[in-house]
Amino acid sequence: MNKQPILKSLSLDFKYDSPAARRRRRIVWTQRARHLTQLGFGVFIIAGSVAHQTAVTDGVVPSIDALCPFGGVETLWRLISSGGEYVPKTHLSNLVLLAGLVIGTLIAGGAFCGWVCPFGAVQDMLNGMRRRLRIRPVELPATLDKVLRYGRFVTLAIILYQTISLTKLWFADIDPYRTLFGLEWLFEFDVLTSWPAYLATLAVLIGSFFVERAWCRYLCPLGGVISVLSRFSLLRIRRNGSACTQCGLCARPCPVKLDVDKAAIISGNCVGCLACVETCPRRNALEVKLAPAWLPAPRAAASETAKPTG
Ligand code: SF4
Ligand code: SF4
Repeated sequence: MNKQPILKSLSLDFKYDSPAARRRRRIVWTQRARHLTQLGFGVFIIAGSVAHQTAVTDGVVPSIDALCPFGGVETLWRLISSGGEYVPKTHLSNLVLLAGLVIGTLIAGGAFCGWVCPFGAVQDMLNGMRRRLRIRPVELPATLDKVLRYGRFVTLAIILYQTISLTKLWFADIDPYRTLFGLEWLFEFDVLTSWPAYLATLAVLIGSFFVERAWCRYLCPLGGVISVLSRFSLLRIRRNGSACTQCGLCARPCPVKLDVDKAAIISGNCVGCLACVETCPRRNALEVKLAPAWLPAPRAAASETAKPTG
């Protein structure tokens, strides 16, 4: 009996794999590793929230406000201007996480969004559900998409203005991430007081079901900060113009819909999921390189405009 076709169909005999099958397997394993990492961080945050919600004595277990690097962004101005005071509900832990995020982003770009952030993971999950249900995603026109991406900076400016003027975590009352992962909806459901938070979270989740990573692309204030820092990151995905055939395959799996196939250096909006790199069928056409965008483009890509996407 000829066992080759059976092994081949089961994808067990690597020797008989086509390059496309090998590529598919690479994509699957990279994305599995990414989803496992996201799951690990998600479980950590949920466990922290359960511990906080079920703590017998108030204040013994910190809330997830203390576990968010964005709290560091929110409290930074008050800390500097008051000579050491924090915005209530923020702590040193927020600053430590923010410092870690800044260093990580300056090294690996937006990988926090692709591999760590639990709210990014929830949106990936919603996208997976939509695909399984065979519902087509909503694709916004390119110009509208480009304009809406500035929404992250509008949200950021409003939140910082309100936090500084009111000296309180103003956004916490409607923050979809905090609403979902803080678990108050589970332990202390209160529609009369918290309806704005529930409504905002529901709207964001429904939006992200139809538009891939809608919150990340258009509204997340931390995503805005990360996208600016990412422009200075040491590791970047670069497209080598002389090896690329412009087949466009790499742009298809991008969760934040960047024109990966059109630029030499991939945009600061990249979440580092690596789906594009694994999808590319051409050797050396798309690579993660220790090549910051502020240095001249490599020789192979120099014939192209070294303009970031997105
Ligand atoms: S953009 Fe915001 S919500 Fe999305 S993954 Fe990044 S930090 Fe998380
Ligand atoms: S980088 Fe690779 S996948 Fe993307 S357009 Fe070029 S050859 Fe195609």
